[in-house]
Amino acid sequence: MLKTSKKVLGVALAASMLATGLVGLPLNVQAKSTVEITWLGSGQPQEKQAYEQVIKRFEKSHPNVKIKYVVMSAGEQYNIKIKAAMASGNMPDIFYINPENVKSWVGSGKVLNLSKYVKKSDVNNIWKPAISKYRFDGKNVGKGDLYALPKDVGPFAFAYNKTMFKKAGIPLPDKDKPYTWKQWIDISKKLTKDTNGDGKLDQWSTGLNVNWSLAPFVWSNGADWLNASKNKVTITDPKFEEALQFFVDMTNKYKITPDAKTAATMDTYQRWLKGQEAFFPAGPWDISVFNKLPFDYDLMPWPAGSTGKTATWLGSLGFAVSKTTQHAKEAVEFAMYLSTEKAGQKLVSDLNIQIPNIVDMATTDYLKRKDKPDNKKEFIQIAQDYGRSWPYEYTYTREWYDEFYVGIQAVLDGKVSVKQYCKTEQPKMQKLLDKSIELEKQRLGK
Ligand code: CA
Repeated sequence: MLKTSKKVLGVALAASMLATGLVGLPLNVQAKSTVEITWLGSGQPQEKQAYEQVIKRFEKSHPNVKIKYVVMSAGEQYNIKIKAAMASGNMPDIFYINPENVKSWVGSGKVLNLSKYVKKSDVNNIWKPAISKYRFDGKNVGKGDLYALPKDVGPFAFAYNKTMFKKAGIPLPDKDKPYTWKQWIDISKKLTKDTNGDGKLDQWSTGLNVNWSLAPFVWSNGADWLNASKNKVTITDPKFEEALQFFVDMTNKYKITPDAKTAATMDTYQRWLKGQEAFFPAGPWDISVFNKLPFDYDLMPWPAGSTGKTATWLGSLGFAVSKTTQHAKEAVEFAMYLSTEKAGQKLVSDLNIQIPNIVDMATTDYLKRKDKPDNKKEFIQIAQDYGRSWPYEYTYTREWYDEFYVGIQAVLDGKVSVKQYCKTEQPKMQKLLDKSIELEKQRLGK
C-alpha cells in the first residue's frame, strides 16, 4: 500500500516536471538563476586552502553562483586532465593556461576572448608584462585581445648569501647596479674556497641549472634564441655564443661552481640551502623555504653581459575561461576575482606563495613587510619593468626550443665546443621552428 502511493507520487512528480520542462535537472539546481562554475586547477594544500577561502567570499557576495573547485596536487596530473577535457569537449568553465599554450589553445577554439567582458580599467592595476602574455591578435602573442588573467607572476631573481659576504669582508652587491660578468667572476673566485683547510673545496660561488639560468646571461649580452619576427633561430650570433661560453666557463675555466663529480654527491640547490654557495636563483615560490635558512640572504640583479643591463624571465600561469561555458559572465567575474581580490592576494602573498598580482598592493603592503628578503623590490622590478617572456611563448609549438637542450650537457662538460654546438643545432632548431610556423598557418589560417 505504502509502496504504491510512493510510486504514484513519483509518477505525479515526473509528470509535473515534464510539464515544466525541468526533466533531467537535479532538484537542487531548479531554483532559477543558480549557476555552477567548475574550476579545474592544481596546487599544493596551502594554496588550495587559500583559494577555498577566496571561493567562500565570492559565493557569499554572489549568492546565485556556486563554485566547484577541482584541484590536482601536481601540474602533470592537471595537464592530463585538461587535455582529456579538451579532447572530450567537456570543458571546465575555468582552467589554468600556460602562456606557451595561448596560441594553440586559442587557435583551437578552447579559450573565451575576455575582451568583451573585461574593461581596460579592470586590468590597469595588474602587471603589464603578465597581461601581455595572454594577449593575442590572431598572429602575435603580446598584443590584441585578452584571453586569460594571471593567476600569478614568477619573477626569477638572483639571491646572494649575505652572511657569507660579511664573513669574507666583501661589500654587498648593489641592488640597482648589476655586476659586470668580470666583477662577478672576481667576487665568485674569492668566495670559492676551502674553508676548513682539508684541501677540498667546501664553498662555491654558485651552481646554475642551464634550463632556467642561461637566459639571463644570453639576454643581458644582447642575444636571444629568436629574431624579433620570431621566425629565425639566432643561436649562431656571436653574442649568443659568447654568453653560452661564459656559462660553460663558470665551471670549466673559472671553476666557481662544484665540478661534475662534486655536484653528483649533492645538488647545487641543497648546497645553497646549506650555506655552501654565495649565489642562487630565487623566485617568490622559494621565499618560504629561504626565510627559514640559518643565514641571511637578499635579492640582487643578475650579473650583466655586454649590454650592461640585467635581464631575466618572468613566468606566469593564467586563468582561462572555456569558450563553450554556459555562464561566461559569471565565469569571467570569478576569474577576475581569483586574480585580483584583495584579501585573497594578501593571503597568498603573506604566505609567500607568490607576490601580489595587483601593482598597488605589491608596491605598498608587500614592499613594507619586514620579513626577508629586504630587496623585495627586485621582484617588483622584474614583474613591472624588465622580466621577459620565454622565446617559446611567442611560437606555436616549443619543440624547436627544447631541441637546444637535448645535447647541451656535452657542451657544459667541455666535450663539444660552443661554436660547434651552435652551428649544428641551429639548422635542426630552424627546421622545427619552420614546422611550427607551418602548423600555425594550417591551424590558424594566417
Ligand atoms: Ca674543505
